[in-house]
Amino acid sequence: MGKMLYMDYAATTPPAAEVVQKTLPWLREKFGNPSAVCQNGQEARKAVEEARRSAAKLIGADADEIFFTSGGTEADNWVLERSCPHGCSSHIITSAIEHHAVINTCKALEKRGNKVIYVGPDDKGRISPRDIERHIRKDTRLISVMFANNEVGTIQPVAEIGAMAKEYGIPFHTDAVQVVGHLPVDVKSWNITYLSASAHKFYGLKGCGFLYCKKGFELPPLLYGGAQENGLRAGTENMPGIVALGEAAKFCAGRLPWEAAAVKPLRNLMIEQLKMIPGSHLMGDPQRRLPGNVHFCFEGIDGRSLALLLQQEGICVSAGAACSSSQSEASHVLSAMHVQKDCLQGALRISLGTELNRQDIMYAARRISENVERLRHMDQNI
Ligand code: PLP
Repeated sequence: MGKMLYMDYAATTPPAAEVVQKTLPWLREKFGNPSAVCQNGQEARKAVEEARRSAAKLIGADADEIFFTSGGTEADNWVLERSCPHGCSSHIITSAIEHHAVINTCKALEKRGNKVIYVGPDDKGRISPRDIERHIRKDTRLISVMFANNEVGTIQPVAEIGAMAKEYGIPFHTDAVQVVGHLPVDVKSWNITYLSASAHKFYGLKGCGFLYCKKGFELPPLLYGGAQENGLRAGTENMPGIVALGEAAKFCAGRLPWEAAAVKPLRNLMIEQLKMIPGSHLMGDPQRRLPGNVHFCFEGIDGRSLALLLQQEGICVSAGAACSSSQSEASHVLSAMHVQKDCLQGALRISLGTELNRQDIMYAARRISENVERLRHMDQNI
C-alpha cells in the first residue's frame, strides 16, 4: 500500500504544524491556571484573551462575544437548551438536515413539552427562507439553521435567513462548524445572533470550540461554578485547546483569501470523474457547496462497504457523516432530500484539503470506480 490519502476533512482536519508548535508549551511548561494570580496564571489569562480576539476576528465579532466551549456540540446544545427555559413551552424552527448535535437536542426539547418545526430541504439540500417564514409564530424563540451541511455540503442562504429573522425580532443561530476557517464569515452584516464553531474542523485540536453570542443576547449559563467565560460557562479553561484554537484562527485568516480557490478545482475534478461511474448521483447543490465537499450516492451498493474497501487501499473517506457512519440506518439528510431508495445506502462523502493534488484525485477516483464495480459484482454473485 502506498501513501495514505486523507480525504475526510469534514470529519476532522489535520492540526496545522505551526498550531501544534505554538500549543506544545501549554501542555507542560506553561501550566498556569488563568484564574490564578501567580505570574504563570496571568500569562495563561493573556493567552486566553488573545485566542478570544483571534476567534472573534475570524467571524467579524467582538472578543467579548466569544465564549469557549468543548466544541460544536456543546455550543449547539447551549443555544438550543437555554433558548427554552424549563417550565414553559417554547417554539423553535430548525431544519430537518441539521447535525445530530442540533437534531437530538431538539428531540430532547420536544420531550420536555417544547414545539420544534423541522423545515425540509429541496432535492439539493437547500432550505428556503420562505419555508421558515411560513412557520413563524408570535412565540417563536429561535431559528436555527446550519451554515453548510456536513454531509452533502450545501451552503444555506444564511444572510437571507438572518435578515428575515431580524425583521421578526427572532434570534438566529447558525451551526457554522463546517464553514468557520474555510469561508469568510461576517456575523454582523448577516444578522447572526448565535454561531457555533469547532477548532478541530479548522486545523486546531479536538475538544475545543466556541459560541458567538451577539451583545445583548447572552444566554443563561450553560455550566454553573466559577466565573470563567464571564460567568456563563464555568470550569477551568482548556488551555492547550484554546491556545490552539486561537492559533488556528490566525492560520485560517491567512489562508482565507486562497484556500477555497485552491480546493475547488480538486473538488470539481473529483465530481467530473465520479459522474462517469454508471448509476452515480451527485448529492447537494452543484454550485452553492462547500469548496472541499464531494458527495455521491451509488446505486445498488453499500457506502460503508465502499469506504472500508477504500480504507484498505489507503484512501480515507466517509460513508455519509463521520459521527453516524457506524450506524446502519440511512442518513436523515438524504432521507429528508427524498433520495431514491436504491441510492440511499450507497452514500460516499469525500472531503478535500489543500494537501492533495490532481494526481491524488485521479488515483482515488479510479479506485472508487473500481470498487463500486467490485461491490456490484459481488452482490450479483451472492
Ligand atoms: N455541527 C456540525 C455541522 C458538524 O459537522 C459537527 C462535527 O462533525 C458538529 C456540529 C459537532 O462538533 P464537535 O465535534 O466539535 O462536537
